[in-house]
Amino acid sequence: MVKVIVSGHSRGLGEAVAAALLLRGARVLGLARNRNARLAARFPDTFSEVALDLADADALPRWLETGRLGAWIDGAEQAVLVNNAGTISPMGPPALQDPNEVARALALNVAAPLMLAAAFCAAAASVTDRRILHVSSGAARKPYPGWSVYCASKAALDHHARAVAEDKVAGLRICSLAPGVLDTEMQATIRATSLERFPLRERFAEMQRAGGLVPVDDCARRLTDYLLGDAFGTAPTADLRDLPG
Ligand code: NDP
Repeated sequence: MVKVIVSGHSRGLGEAVAAALLLRGARVLGLARNRNARLAARFPDTFSEVALDLADADALPRWLETGRLGAWIDGAEQAVLVNNAGTISPMGPPALQDPNEVARALALNVAAPLMLAAAFCAAAASVTDRRILHVSSGAARKPYPGWSVYCASKAALDHHARAVAEDKVAGLRICSLAPGVLDTEMQATIRATSLERFPLRERFAEMQRAGGLVPVDDCARRLTDYLLGDAFGTAPTADLRDLPG
């Protein structure tokens, strides 16, 4: 049995990845602030969810202490963690960033995935096939004006994956994967941002007008093929746009 934890399953890429995995027969536990009634209705027997603010520095440790993660993984033949939840905010040069928002972004984009990875590896120690996917971004590898917090947070995920790969833990594969530019609320937030905070806004608006944003279901299908396939984790960082298929 394949058991998966997906953060940020309430909408966007996380919802699409959760649905793609559920359609393949996996059991999925979603973690986000909002519940997903669509997944609950479609997959009443194999989908569970927990309402959790992953940017709350107290809430995640409290939830981990409940032992629910270990109870969820119990009995799995393959255990998978998809660290998908993330935020693009705050955008803007440092002087325009609210320091509290910076802290929340790093808690969500960096601390939560690394904490979940640690708890997952401990809880799934006896599962022979364990996989961790960090949802990264092209912004981890290329700097963008106005996105310094986001770029730094995604670069942290990439380097975490590289270092964990060096641990060479038997049965553990990890990859920090850039998914491409997706048609989600995050892109709508980017298009609604002032030019002062994000000077390249029009490039992304034009991409949307030209039909250049990837539908999340298409991305999720390819991402899931890679995640469950033999090649997963061959390299600790990857870009879905460069992978075959
Ligand atoms: P969305 O903004 O559409 O969805 C974000 C998801 O993260 C939601 O399910 C949301 O759930 C969850 N989330 C946000 N804040 C919290 C929180 N405090 N606690 C728990 N969950 C939270 O984003 P996308 O689907 O576009 O992005 C998904 C991932 O893909 C992100 O990591 C993003 O950086 C990455 N990515 C996206 C790209 C794009 O073009 N869209 C490009 C490259 C990477 P809720 O609000 O219910 O908590």
